[in-house]
Amino acid sequence: MTQPAVRLYDLEFPALQSLLADWGEPAYRARQLWEWLYVHLATDFDQMTNLPRSLRERLALQATLGVPQVVDTLQSSDGETRKDLLCLEDGETVEAVLMRYRGRRTACISTQVGCAIGCAFCATGQMGFHRNLTSGEIVAQPLHFARVLRDEGQRLTNVVLMGMGEPLLNYEAALAAIRRLIDPQALNVGQRHITLSTVGVVPGIKRLAGEGLQITLAVSLHAATDQLRDQLVPINRRYGLDALFESCYHYVERTGRRISFEWALIQGVNDTPQQAQALAARLEGLLAHVNVIPLNPTRGYDGRPSSRAALNVFTAQLKRYRVPYTVRVRRGVDIQAGCGQLRQRNRPASP
Ligand code: SAH
Ligand code: SF4
Repeated sequence: MTQPAVRLYDLEFPALQSLLADWGEPAYRARQLWEWLYVHLATDFDQMTNLPRSLRERLALQATLGVPQVVDTLQSSDGETRKDLLCLEDGETVEAVLMRYRGRRTACISTQVGCAIGCAFCATGQMGFHRNLTSGEIVAQPLHFARVLRDEGQRLTNVVLMGMGEPLLNYEAALAAIRRLIDPQALNVGQRHITLSTVGVVPGIKRLAGEGLQITLAVSLHAATDQLRDQLVPINRRYGLDALFESCYHYVERTGRRISFEWALIQGVNDTPQQAQALAARLEGLLAHVNVIPLNPTRGYDGRPSSRAALNVFTAQLKRYRVPYTVRVRRGVDIQAGCGQLRQRNRPASP
């Protein structure tokens, strides 16, 4: 019986070492191959010229690199944002975005195909859950952009796990991917330049707090009362605001890191002074920052982005209560850079 091919990007370094040891290779080969994967960003075994031909041939037969194919690309009109739809080995597709902003080059990457949470306003939520990505499929996305940037003589500086899916519901793969991204002998992205965004999976936040990492945690809050959050973000019915904030306080205590709270402003829904006040009350005494982002309209949701006037009312309240916040420009709106929207574009509209 033939063995299935080994997916090299799914392996941690020790697993790569034992694979090559089983194949009778000298110990230093594992480091050479690792460098081809994560430093030289190889896309083909033929490029690995310091490996003996016999090993390259064996790798070609028994291993895969699984470099994702770009099936659609959108460039923003200012050329600063690029969004790629990437095809995986089984034909599933995920979105990954490259943003160039203030000297940073940030990859926004997916952790699942679809998402089981089903937030009303989110294009990914609207498509349901298909499957988890492997750690290799997650890492493949920043590697893809690192190759694009290398051709321009630049490096990838930041990674945000803010694409399709809920990273804390694919915990092992997401964490394995992060550890490979920060590995000084791999992509070497600074820990503080990595952000993991969660909808508020409380056990996952507690577990993450104990990982000894210095990454940034972002929590997609969007509402500060259980009544409203239950509607917008259905996982709130399982982990309500009390439990969520308890885990956030714990996270800050353990890591010393400030948490970012995401707030997509929806006209007449969560842009009221009452919501701003409730938010301020929840954040009291917590090392936190709020990112206010006008809603990106999606096909499956009627809500509209708040008007400039409503946004000003909301932020005036935050100011009044001394809540640190930033109004984020929606980068790449013209290329449907909202989560899940490019994939949605590539599917026929549902009846
Ligand atoms: N599942 C994780 C990470 C992916 S979503 C999470 O929810 O945090 C990345 C961010 O995009 C989240 O903050 C999400 O709430 C936000 N988002 C999704 N759809 C949006 C839309 N239509 N407009 C504005 N923000 C949206
Ligand atoms: Fe899933 Fe996040 Fe979209 Fe909610 S916002 S459906 S958790 S991807």
